[in-house]
Amino acid sequence: MNKITITIDGPAGAGKSTVSRSLAAQIGYVYVDTGALYRGVAYEIKKAKLDYKDHEELVKLLKEIKFDCKMQKDAFKLISNGNDISDKIRTTEISMLASAVSALPEVRSGLLGIQKDIAEKYNAVFEGRDMGTVVFPHAQHKFFLIADLKIRAGRRYKESAENLSKKSSDNLENLNKIEKDMKKRDHNDSTRVESPLKPASDSIVIDSTNLTIEQVVEKIRNNLLIS
Ligand code: C5P
Repeated sequence: MNKITITIDGPAGAGKSTVSRSLAAQIGYVYVDTGALYRGVAYEIKKAKLDYKDHEELVKLLKEIKFDCKMQKDAFKLISNGNDISDKIRTTEISMLASAVSALPEVRSGLLGIQKDIAEKYNAVFEGRDMGTVVFPHAQHKFFLIADLKIRAGRRYKESAENLSKKSSDNLENLNKIEKDMKKRDHNDSTRVESPLKPASDSIVIDSTNLTIEQVVEKIRNNLLIS
């Protein structure tokens, strides 16, 4: 099957999710949030109260986890062993734990199959850290989004303030904490040995610091036309 794969990688808060969702909806592709898979593993590790450094226990847990991805036009739902955990994986604690466990090779390889299966079946926009470098090195279109740390933290703060007023399940995180956590995650994600966060050599890098979501999507769409 010759499906088309578009990869959008980059650090936290660079606008990947909103851009990928919007792009996928506009061009009729499915949107795949691969960060949700790492968050899902972190969530299950926390739920099982597992020490993720215990290799045997971790491998056992990974075998037990059955993820099912519901790809809607502009949303991505993660079902884990029959339960929709999409909302539960959005906490700061899960973000940090996902960043830690995503450095482990057994976690990364455990999630490869599900990503490749989707790419075989659908034209898709995959958002993540290693989409263009490791998971889909032969993707037809690769993009890497960047933005200043302060701008990224500000965007995340705004998002969490909006979400919290809707769901009010967590305390409102302050901007400094978000910035500090983001910096730490960037560091973890870019310095790990396995699939570090970096642009693929054949990716188009877009700095979204001074761009709106619509402008970034437009840039991507223009590149899809000319490549
Ligand atoms: O994209 P998101 O912030 O939801 O990702 C959560 C964490 O999952 C990241 O900080 C990163 O450590 C990990 N991740 C990854 N590879 C991906 C997607 C996410 O390592 N393709």
